[in-house]
Amino acid sequence: MSDVRKLIVIGGGPAGYAAALYAARANLDPLVIEGFQWGGQLMITSDVENYPGYADGVLGPEMMHDFRRQAERFGAEYLTDDVTRVDFSERPFRVWVGDDEHRAEAVIVATGATARQLGIESERRLQGRGVTYCAVCDAAFYRGKEVVVVGGGDSAMEEAVFTTKFADKVTVVHRRNEFRASQILEDRARENEKIELMTPYVVEDVLGDDKLTGVRLRHVETGEAQELAADGLFVAIGHDPTTALFLDWLDHEETGYLVTRPGTTETNVPGVFAAGDVQDHVYRQAVTAAGSGCMAALDAERFLAAQEGRLATALTAPRDEAGS
Ligand code: NAP
Repeated sequence: MSDVRKLIVIGGGPAGYAAALYAARANLDPLVIEGFQWGGQLMITSDVENYPGYADGVLGPEMMHDFRRQAERFGAEYLTDDVTRVDFSERPFRVWVGDDEHRAEAVIVATGATARQLGIESERRLQGRGVTYCAVCDAAFYRGKEVVVVGGGDSAMEEAVFTTKFADKVTVVHRRNEFRASQILEDRARENEKIELMTPYVVEDVLGDDKLTGVRLRHVETGEAQELAADGLFVAIGHDPTTALFLDWLDHEETGYLVTRPGTTETNVPGVFAAGDVQDHVYRQAVTAAGSGCMAALDAERFLAAQEGRLATALTAPRDEAGS
């Protein structure tokens, strides 16, 4: 068992590292249990062009290295492993990595979410080389090209319509004849001349060696296979928050997303905060995740200060370059 720390951050994506940066600069000496596969969803993203400050764009993994290094510069300590169990029943909170127990007065949960994958080997091989999970991030790379969007929910419809701003043709492939999407979004897709809806089809294989060239579809009812040439495959079949370890302790939605008090990162357990995609199924952007990581660090600092009967420096210091 280790000494009680002020703060443990669980998760190593934009939210976790931003929380660690702010917490380290507020002298909270955070331990970041960043996960064995740290970096989050950006590690399977190629170019990131919508993160403010990178005027020429940046590779997703490179950006996560930068995030990580920046928090480390101010003293964030990393444990590159997965949390296996937590106990939030009382303070200090307890967090285990295997048999090793870590304790802290405050915890920030920033374990993110994972885009659902089709689960095909070729899909994995061509990730970042035509296969993508975020149309908002990547659609602009497909100007004048042909794209397949797979999925039948609101995300698929919204992403298909958004992608037509750039691509010449967008084919939505869905496994059932009925769409799960709300009627208004389905109608919007149906009315768009650049969009073709193909049902009921599943994507059976992703074609291409170094770069995606198309997909092989199979008709669900007839079993007939068909190849479709494409430059991009946008997988939009939903996300799963990484919250299994926390569900016994923290309020959550039916879908597993953690619930925070509106306008804050506070969970139902005082001293436990949630930031990033783990509590946001709407925006899901690196910049919004980083923003909520910053909020969580400020919330944690204020909480710890209140426990110690002092004012939080983050809230009392001027909000300029000398500030928090
Ligand atoms: P979703 O509603 O869970 O829809 C996922 C879609 O992917 C479903 O059509 C599902 O098919 C399909 N799918 C799942 N696994 C698949 C697989 N292995 N192979 C092929 N297809 C598969 O997810 P979402 O569209 O990301 O939406 C998530 C939440 O965010 C929803 O509550 C949604 O309303 C909300 N959202 C709202 C907006 C908006 O209002 N503007 C925009 C985006 C998202 P089945 O239908 O057959 O199950």
